[in-house]
Amino acid sequence: MAERSHDLVVIGGGPGGYVAAIRAAQLGLSVGLVEKQKTLGGTCLNIGCIPSKALLESSQRYAAARDELAAHGIKTGRVRLDLAVMQRRKDEVVGRITQGVAALMWKWKVKIYTGEGRLAGAGRVALRRENEEEEIAATNIILATGSVPAALHGVDLDGDRVCTSTEALAWRTVPSHLVVIGAGAIGLELGSVWRRLGAEVTVLEYLDRILPEMDAEVAAEARKILAAQGLAFRLGQRVTAARAAGGQCVVEAEGEKPLECSHVLVAVGRKPFTAGLGLETAGIELDEHGRIPINERFQTSPAGVFAIGDVVRGPMLAHKASEEGVACVEMIATGHGRVNYDAIPSIVYTWPEVAGVGRTEEQLRAAGVSFRKGSFPFLANGRAHALGSVEGRVKVLAHAETDRVLGVHIVGPHAGELIAEAATAIEFGASSEDIARTCHAHPTLAEALKEAALAVDRRAVHV
Ligand code: NAD
Repeated sequence: MAERSHDLVVIGGGPGGYVAAIRAAQLGLSVGLVEKQKTLGGTCLNIGCIPSKALLESSQRYAAARDELAAHGIKTGRVRLDLAVMQRRKDEVVGRITQGVAALMWKWKVKIYTGEGRLAGAGRVALRRENEEEEIAATNIILATGSVPAALHGVDLDGDRVCTSTEALAWRTVPSHLVVIGAGAIGLELGSVWRRLGAEVTVLEYLDRILPEMDAEVAAEARKILAAQGLAFRLGQRVTAARAAGGQCVVEAEGEKPLECSHVLVAVGRKPFTAGLGLETAGIELDEHGRIPINERFQTSPAGVFAIGDVVRGPMLAHKASEEGVACVEMIATGHGRVNYDAIPSIVYTWPEVAGVGRTEEQLRAAGVSFRKGSFPFLANGRAHALGSVEGRVKVLAHAETDRVLGVHIVGPHAGELIAEAATAIEFGASSEDIARTCHAHPTLAEALKEAALAVDRRAVHV
């Protein structure tokens, strides 16, 4: 006999799961949320998006104080780093936000179960904590257990100097030479943090480009800018081994001489986390990528069991998981819910930032879609000059016949904020003409998006 019962039990308290729980409570469902960690927020809040952004912000300010303030006529003494304070601030930022999420759960009367959840037969979730196990009855169950860093065959993680992003966010000393394996978002963001704080950073990437999911032209421009900041890129290198040896680390890539360094960050992707969820007993078979198969209503094979976020297909992004959580719950409660997968922005928080939404040039070409392209450099934007950040560009891709905006890609200052306007445009089915005719305040960085939209029709004003 189950002692407790809910209309919905969500397993996993990350940005997919906790947002689903809030939306379900708003819709009047009684909700239980099972989370094995002491704090809510999952990878994103605890060991991912939020702590990395805190360190990116702090390291950017340090580098700016060291390298840029003099040009503004601001004299400082020698700028020194107190990494312990920087790390403490990061922990405080994380603490405040995870507490905020806990307060939201209280506000919406979501019952939190701290422990590991597992499917335990139709309409049942088993909750294990320490040596106890209890059962919760649930009319609906959402699996939102997220992902973990993918391992790389031949790499011996030592949880300290040869490690994943979790440890690289918490180092107490600045590496003398950090080798990053993988030029995706994690590698570039954490590579930037430690580079700014003084490390020599070498990025080894298997492909002949960085940021494989982003528009190639924008990624190539980002690579040049980051290389000028001192990130040494070695492309086309497949890492086959890495280990700590004595006081040093050694990284081996196919056909290359072994590379010695002080620290190694493995950032070669993430994989869905489904261990211990009881999927086999529930009759759920994972796909070839280890993901939980779902239909367009987020339903898995057993009735009443749904899955969202990093454990299912699609980009592994916190905001994608949140959107899916909302849509899944709305489908359960009202029969209707929707995620527009064409309008999910993606951002890499280097400086300058790299951001994109919609389709890339490569994807449009591969799909045989004819499009027109407008591009505008920040070098021609007044606000970018005032900021002292004129690198990069905005690129708008619009359908050749209908002019509908199909993709927007930006490398430049605050690209991650600018991309929101582009996502709105795509969501509303806007044309490039719509963006071009929208009055943008002057002087703003957003004017570069307007100008790129004007450039689709060869009528940009400032180039
Ligand atoms: P990623 O998949 O984005 O990039 C991994 C890179 O590693 C790829 O370029 C790949 O070619 C390379 N690689 C794989 N095997 C290699 C080898 N043996 N040698 C050399 N290079 C190799 O992975 P990530 O950066 O670890 O990020 C993981 C996930 O988390 C992604 O889905 C990412 O979108 C997400 N994430 C997003 C953000 C953000 O949106 N700002 C930040 C962090 C993580």
